[in-house]
Amino acid sequence: MGEKLTIAVQKSGRLQEDSLKILKECGISIDNGKDQLKANASNFPLEVLYLRNSDIPQYVEDGVADIAIVGGNVIVEKQKELEILQKLGFSKCRLAMALPKDVEYTGLEYFNGKKLATSYPNSLQQFLDENNLDCDIHVISGSVEIAPNIGLADGICDLVSSGSTLFKNGLKEVEEVLVSEACLVANKNISDLKRAILDRLLFRMKSVLAAKNNKYILLNAPNDKIDDIIKVLPGMKSPTVLPLAQEGWSSIHSVINENDFWGVIDQLKINGAEGILIIPIQKMVL
Ligand code: ATP
Repeated sequence: MGEKLTIAVQKSGRLQEDSLKILKECGISIDNGKDQLKANASNFPLEVLYLRNSDIPQYVEDGVADIAIVGGNVIVEKQKELEILQKLGFSKCRLAMALPKDVEYTGLEYFNGKKLATSYPNSLQQFLDENNLDCDIHVISGSVEIAPNIGLADGICDLVSSGSTLFKNGLKEVEEVLVSEACLVANKNISDLKRAILDRLLFRMKSVLAAKNNKYILLNAPNDKIDDIIKVLPGMKSPTVLPLAQEGWSSIHSVINENDFWGVIDQLKINGAEGILIIPIQKMVL
């Protein structure tokens, strides 16, 4: 049997669904799944291990898994030396410090001598050291946001995405400690054979992610506006321009980045573009 790459993904929880989805979008079919601890891909040399999110960095560092999809914040918290290969754009959150909403916050020095509840003591301590702050860290494993209400701590340091949990508990976010998203990470010493499989997987992932971040755009424009429109639409190399059946008009095709989208559309309209169509891209091979 040939060499296989072992990937760890979260067994259940916030990252699991999107982790399996991205593997699927990479064309990888995984036999069965969820209820097993291990599964094989039927069409790619990959074995999947389903593990707890917080245990994943250790398994990758030990080489039990070669690579993993894991929250970036967990790597910082567990202080593991892993290679971060690719940010994956999901499970975005931030580790933030929060205080009861009626506290008058005066800046970072406010925290000196205060008691903070968190499940992420290492990440918090690193932030405190960087800012020369001295706090009493109280480690609790869950429901951190109730700690100030029950008199357990002056404030908290916890993961936040929308901020609604903080709000519901009468807290306000005052400092960002770090930002996080799901990442593809690797053990630093994987063999050349496994590295070759990993390169194939990474190539597919980058194509999937690029497609998510870009849209295909088609529009019609009078020929005398083509130059102005091309300046707004760089495209992968340069836009495609095709003549329309109607004399004096052309169809222009290009690719635009999701982040620039609305700004580009406004510019196109100002420059006389009509019949603008935006089409999702399934894969973008770079
Ligand atoms: P384990 O799988 O080890 O039991 P867990 O119960 O903390 O860990 P989840 O809550 O499913 O697992 O996922 C936690 C991860 O999800 C975090 O480490 C972080 O990377 C990501 N995440 C994204 N948004 C949030 C959020 N608002 N709160 C907590 N975690 C978040």
